[in-house]
Amino acid sequence: MRIDDGVFAYGGGWLDRAGALRADEDRMAALRADERSVVLPHWRDRCLVTAENVPVRLSGVDAVRVLEAAAETAFLGLDGGVAVFAADLSGHAEADAVALVGAVSTVDVRKLAGHLAPAEAAAQAYARGLFYWHRQQRWCGSCGAVTTAGGGGHVRVCSAAECGRLFFPRIEPAVIVLVQAPEADRCLLARHTGAPEGSYSTLAGFVEVGESLEDAVRREMAEEVGVEVTDLAYQGSQAWPFPAGLMVAFRATAASVEVKVDGVELIEARWFTRDELGARAAAGRLGRVDSIDRHLLGSWLTAGQPG
Ligand SMILES: [Zn+2]
Repeated sequence: MRIDDGVFAYGGGWLDRAGALRADEDRMAALRADERSVVLPHWRDRCLVTAENVPVRLSGVDAVRVLEAAAETAFLGLDGGVAVFAADLSGHAEADAVALVGAVSTVDVRKLAGHLAPAEAAAQAYARGLFYWHRQQRWCGSCGAVTTAGGGGHVRVCSAAECGRLFFPRIEPAVIVLVQAPEADRCLLARHTGAPEGSYSTLAGFVEVGESLEDAVRREMAEEVGVEVTDLAYQGSQAWPFPAGLMVAFRATAASVEVKVDGVELIEARWFTRDELGARAAAGRLGRVDSIDRHLLGSWLTAGQPG
């Protein structure tokens, strides 16, 4: 199977992250003051948008003013040589943040994913994930002292002189799996607790400490649907900073078609033929447009009998 880098929403490597610049405080200060630099304002996991529902991008004096008003800022990288920063206005009331940047409202980037350019969606998700992490890492986990941001907003440092521990942004990997029947003629979808009637998706779960991705696939499938799987095949990965995920997608083959749901996370799991899945696709029910789940289902559907 061909895998295109960056086909999934929120990734794609559109920005040059220019990680080597982050620790250069003089360069960071110069870029923050550079009138060409761009600032993406955020407010509590949400973008600030214009009347056209487009995320606000500031430059010039407005950008400098908003960087100064922000609780945290982060250097996201370079876009064609122009620095891109994000500014977290979560310390302000929502109406004040909106007014400060000339927006009309705030919105979750996932609500915009269908009509944003891929590079814009990726930058907004990147900023959101970083600021979420900053807000969760305000104190040192070792000694309890306050931490402060450094490294262009990509590290937090414990302020206690005798500690000084460094903290880096956390990613929480999860596996997402399309399980096919032994004959590869059907795939297994499940309905999660709380999901509406008829709402099915692929299986997923977090990777635990001390597990490989493959270990996590085998354990999750055994726990959630009582299925032993073999022939794991990597299908791609997706940045999912909502708040801190990385989705790693696999296809796997079940040893048998007997299914037993756990009754906790899942209410129901059942096998779908390609015809049944095709009918769901035709009805626009093949998962979120921005999710790797949809890719897993779509590629299985169009692949026919996989080789
Ligand atoms: Zn400490």
